[in-house]
Amino acid sequence: MTFLSPTIQKTLSERFGTRLKNNVSLAGLTTAQVGGPANTLITIQNREELAETARLLWDADIPFRVLGSGSNVLFSDQPYQGIILLNKAKLIKIDTNIPQPTIWAESGANFGLVARKAALAGLGGLEWAATIPGTIGGAVYGNAGAHGGNMAGNLLVAEILQQGKEPANWTCEKMEYSYRSSILKREQIQAIILSATFSCSPASPKTVQDQMQQYSEYRRLTQPPGASMGSMFKNPEGDYAGRLIEAAGLKGKKIGGVKVSEIHANFFVNSENATAQDIWQLARFVQEKVYQQFNVRLELEIEPVGFTPEGDFTPQVSNNQNNKTASNGRD
Ligand SMILES: Cc1cc2nc3c(=O)[nH]c(=O)nc-3n(C[C@H](O)[C@H](O)[C@H](O)COP(=O)(O)OP(=O)(O)OC[C@H]3O[C@@H](n4cnc5c(N)ncnc54)[C@H](O)[C@@H]3O)c2cc1C
Repeated sequence: MTFLSPTIQKTLSERFGTRLKNNVSLAGLTTAQVGGPANTLITIQNREELAETARLLWDADIPFRVLGSGSNVLFSDQPYQGIILLNKAKLIKIDTNIPQPTIWAESGANFGLVARKAALAGLGGLEWAATIPGTIGGAVYGNAGAHGGNMAGNLLVAEILQQGKEPANWTCEKMEYSYRSSILKREQIQAIILSATFSCSPASPKTVQDQMQQYSEYRRLTQPPGASMGSMFKNPEGDYAGRLIEAAGLKGKKIGGVKVSEIHANFFVNSENATAQDIWQLARFVQEKVYQQFNVRLELEIEPVGFTPEGDFTPQVSNNQNNKTASNGRD
């Protein structure tokens, strides 16, 4: 079953062939391995196609959302009534022949791979990003960060497409970055990230790779393996969400198939075929307990899609791109 009109379905099927699929489980496309079926999924191969498809869907007033690696988005178990554009646009170009070397990448490129390619080319600056398990698009959108670095510290420009406009280069300032957020995320602006350019500095490949190796080892020692979304909550000012959750005695707390990691309390691990509802309920539970004990209202870092806010749980609940309105708990 599809919500698309027969005409649109025909147009899209002719355009994308087997890259268009109906009724696709989002659990297979998200790192927490949860989520209901997407009505329609289109796999995008490059930035031109991403732009072209977004324009087509905007013009036809069809709801859609770009999905990168699905490592920061929690889809509900209900069907997603729209089109998911699975972003596999992953070209990477490195320019070392100018005073200020740069790296350009399409938004579906894996951030870690971009950082590792930079290292091989003798460019430093993106070491912190080597272990981020998401795409450039997701990282630009959410100001991904780790080990003291973040997108705001490296982005030169993001190429942004908005409905009815030509693609435009948005500077870092225009992205108005804040902790794990951007103007696109905060204000639910209808926009597609097509590509991004980063500033880097010349460095010895070995030095850069050694640093990446250290970060990677730190992660291995302090974060749990298994299906998760990384940190569930943002760190509150001056504290760590993981420390608070642990201090509330919630390590190991389980709802359905998901549990608060024993290794890092801000990670919820899907250990036994959890549903998105299990994760949602556990997030609500943890937030409430931490609030009761410490009077701190934890704010979600992950982005829920398709949930209804209830009671005191006040996460950001977004809809779609079309009509968007260490074991000590450190990251
Ligand atoms: C084990 C683990 C560890 C993690 N560690 C970190 C960490 O150290 N630091 C950190 O910041 N995050 C971390 N994360 C979270 C996550 O990896 C990052 O937030 C990442 O940047 C999300 O990228 P993504 O491609 O998975 O985005 P998705 O989850 O696919 O999408 C996130 C949001 O971005 C939007 N979006 C994605 N691409 C585009 C685009 N091209 N145009 C417009 N909108 C777009 C989506 O629509 C969605 O709203 C971790 C996650 C896991 C599972």
